[in-house]
Amino acid sequence: MTHEIAVIPGDGIGQEVTPAAVEVLEALDIDFDFVEGDAGDAVKEATGDALPEETRELAADADATLFGAAGETAADVILPLRSIVGSFANVRPARAYPGVDAVKPETDIVFIRENTEGVYTGIESEITEGVTTLTRVVTEDASREIAEYGFDYARQNDFEDVTIAHKANVMRQTDGLFLETAEAVAAERDAEYDTALMDALAMHLIMNPDDYGVVICPNLAGDMLSDLAAGLVGGLGLLPSANVGPDNALFEPVHGSAPDIAGEGVANPSAMILSAAMLLDHFGYDEEGDRVRTAVEDVLENGPTTPDLGGDASTEDVTAAVIDHL
Ligand code: ATP
Repeated sequence: MTHEIAVIPGDGIGQEVTPAAVEVLEALDIDFDFVEGDAGDAVKEATGDALPEETRELAADADATLFGAAGETAADVILPLRSIVGSFANVRPARAYPGVDAVKPETDIVFIRENTEGVYTGIESEITEGVTTLTRVVTEDASREIAEYGFDYARQNDFEDVTIAHKANVMRQTDGLFLETAEAVAAERDAEYDTALMDALAMHLIMNPDDYGVVICPNLAGDMLSDLAAGLVGGLGLLPSANVGPDNALFEPVHGSAPDIAGEGVANPSAMILSAAMLLDHFGYDEEGDRVRTAVEDVLENGPTTPDLGGDASTEDVTAAVIDHL
C-alpha cells in the first residue's frame, strides 16, 4: 500500500532538515509517495500568501504531512495546517539521549498537548485604545478527546505516571472543566494519575523530571512546558513532535526556522528525523520507527554531531551516518 506524504520544508533550516528526514524514510523498504508543497515567509513574499491553496489541498489529501519550519509567518502556516489535518493532539516526547550533554539525563517525558483551543483560537480584540482582551476557549469535547488520547498513550507505551496539568485554582471555569473532564476519563479507565498546577509543575519538572511520564496539558501550558523540557535534554535540535487527528497527522520538529544558522548546512537533523520515526509509528511501522530511533541514538552517542552538540559535522554528514546505522 502506498502512503502519500505531503512534504512542506518551509523556511530557514526547514529547507535543510526536511530533505534529511525524507532521505531516511526513502532508505526504508516502504512505499511512500512524497509530494512537495511550499509554505512560509518566502512564499508569502512571492505570492502574498504564506500557505497557498495548493499546499492546503496537498496536506488535506495526503495520508500524512512532514513539515519543517516557518519563520515570521509561523502562526499563518502551522495553525491552519494543524487544523487541516484535523489534529487534536500534539505529542511532544522529551528524552535525553546517551552522549548528549543533558541538564537532566533521566528525563523521559511525553507531553500530550491539547491542540485546538485554549488561548490559540485567536479570539483577541482591542476594546478601546490601550485595552485588549483574549478569549480562552475550553470545551468538554476537546478536553475529553485529549485526556482519552493521553491515558491511552500512557497505557500503550508503558508509562506509569500520568499527570494532568492545569491552573483551575485561577481559571476556575475553563481549567475547571479541563481538569474535571480529564479526571472523569481517568476514572472510566480506572487509571492512576496526579494533577499539578502548571506553574508549580514547571519547577518540579526541572528539579525531578523522573517523577513524570505522560503529562496531559491545555494548549499554551503544553507549548511552554515541552520547550522547558527541551532545555533539560540538550536543546531544541532533538525534539520531535506529532500532530494527530482521527484520520490524518502532521509531523514536525519542535524547533523553528533557526534563522541564525539557516543556509549554513549545519542544522541538527535529529528532531526532524525523529519526527519521521513518529510518522512510521503512526502508520504502524513500529519496527522501522524503532530502527530509525536507534540509528539516531547511535549517531548521537558516537558522532558525527552538528555544532549545536559540540561537533563540526554538517546536516548531510549526520544524515548519511543515520542512514548508515539503519
Ligand atoms: P523561529 O522564529 O522560526 O521560531 P527561532 O530562532 O526563534 O526561530 P528556533 O528556530 O527554535 O527559534 O531556534 C532557537 C535556537 O535554537 C537558535 O539559536 C537555533 O540556532 C537553535 N536551533 C534550533 N533548532 C536547531 C537545530 N535543528 N540544529 C541546531 N540548532 C538549532
